[in-house]
Amino acid sequence: MLGLMQSQPLLTASLIRHAERHHGDGEVISRRVEGDIHRTRYREVAARARQVAQALDALGLAGGDRVATLAWNGYRHLELYYGVSGSGRVLHTLNPRVHPDQLVWMANHAHDKVLCFDLSFLPIVQAVHRRCTSIAHFVVLCDSNKVPAGSGIPGLQSYERWIAPHPTDYEWPVLDEHAASSMCYTSGTTGDPKAVVYSHRSTVLHALSSALPDALNLSARDCVMPVVPMFHVHAWGLPYAAVLTGAKLVFPGPAMDGKSLHDLMEAEQVTLAAGVPTVWHMLLSYLHTHQLRLRSLRRAVIGGAPCSPAMLAAFRVDHGVEVVHAWGMTEMSPLGTVSAPKHKHLAWPDADQARLTLTQGRAVFGVDMKIVDEQDAELPWDGVQAGELMVRGPWVLCDYYRDPGVSPVTDGWFRTGDVATIDADGFMRIMDRRKDIIKSGGEWISSIDIENVAQGHPAVGQAACIGVPHPKWNERPILVVVLTPGCQASRDDILAYFDGKAPKWQVPDDVVFVASIPVSGTGKMQKATLRDQLKGYRLPGT
Ligand code: AMP
Repeated sequence: MLGLMQSQPLLTASLIRHAERHHGDGEVISRRVEGDIHRTRYREVAARARQVAQALDALGLAGGDRVATLAWNGYRHLELYYGVSGSGRVLHTLNPRVHPDQLVWMANHAHDKVLCFDLSFLPIVQAVHRRCTSIAHFVVLCDSNKVPAGSGIPGLQSYERWIAPHPTDYEWPVLDEHAASSMCYTSGTTGDPKAVVYSHRSTVLHALSSALPDALNLSARDCVMPVVPMFHVHAWGLPYAAVLTGAKLVFPGPAMDGKSLHDLMEAEQVTLAAGVPTVWHMLLSYLHTHQLRLRSLRRAVIGGAPCSPAMLAAFRVDHGVEVVHAWGMTEMSPLGTVSAPKHKHLAWPDADQARLTLTQGRAVFGVDMKIVDEQDAELPWDGVQAGELMVRGPWVLCDYYRDPGVSPVTDGWFRTGDVATIDADGFMRIMDRRKDIIKSGGEWISSIDIENVAQGHPAVGQAACIGVPHPKWNERPILVVVLTPGCQASRDDILAYFDGKAPKWQVPDDVVFVASIPVSGTGKMQKATLRDQLKGYRLPGT
């Protein structure tokens, strides 16, 4: 017997159609590359997305053709999200922070046909466009009078002139929900980048689940600011989940410094913002230096890298902001787990609740996970035994696009490359990336745990813990530190700070002071590069 419910494919266009009909006057605010603040509404975003769809028809693009973007978070990027995918093409968000050679590789690998880019990326496009052999159309996201003369880019036209001739009435096609809607590349530390291709179905399901109260807890009463870029796993899906709920959206554009973020948050009364710890660190330092408060923000979503105890305390104690600690991956659209307490945890003392928030949390509906040993045997959820984390679900990839390598999936489970524990309540704690974990005398040391302790020292601005060779113990941890501007601390001060905060055998053997720690295009510390930089380093006494 079949159910007697209407059958409708899950398509991204349904999100913007819903927002247009039910939240038509919902605001979308953007700080533009030009520096001004632009204001629009869902009604208008939907209409202009339909113009984008017809502009792509007019270029003769077929269903499934790739349209690349190289753009900050803003309303035009949002219109492209919906216009490109909704019309059956595939949105490819390029990350402008990767090396230009990699951009060329990605554009050619994806076989992009169109590139839409922000004015600030003109120099990059000028440098690479000849090598992007499949791109036939270049569109710059600005008004027609802002197109730079003599750019050297053939046929370059403004976004506004490109969409203007097309009417706003257009019927979104009924696509196969399994069709590709978008793609992006992981910035692998070795080898070529790998492409993850999302479907309409996976994107809509991910949006539904990430809006739930125990996930990002989004509603039409929220004002959402995705600080995480729309070129980094779709700003963690917020341009879909926020549109689904009808929340007000605020895009910070290129200005991610503490002052710009704070000004915009206060002016637009942002209630939820999402970003990686490096961005939050900048904002918190700015607020601390200028004795400022976050008056409207209620929830800060922290993901992409671990939230440290010091950052949690700054949000909770100094600003009264709830931290939503989330874990995920490009391969998972990206949301996997969120550190939302359960009813029984509400009676816990503050310190225990904080400890819970510092775990990466429990699986959101739709994601299943397990930890396994070296032989792939499942390990118990006792919060102690650590193993490789594997995940599965309708928004977890089943394979990379056009990749000849070994399948990343075993028996339906995707290997995350993260080492984690899971406790009896299902709270997962990432110990490390498998390649970053430090193996000392047959025991594992979590570099994240060591960094979390170090971050509590007031003079430590940034800290990275890496393993270095040791004749007896195989590897020993050292701490690489960037001092907080204006602060001083010696090696011994910092090591003494670990007393009672970490087991003695896990305390780093040395501290190396550096001016900066290399960070990837998605805001993660690049430990492989750091290890390379410190190749000549020898532990004292070895
Ligand atoms: P990406 O695909 O670039 O978003 O990177 C995904 C990886 O980032 C994960 O496999 C983790 O190693 C790391 N990651 C993401 N979120 C967290 C988190 N909350 N805590 C620790 N590591 C994280």
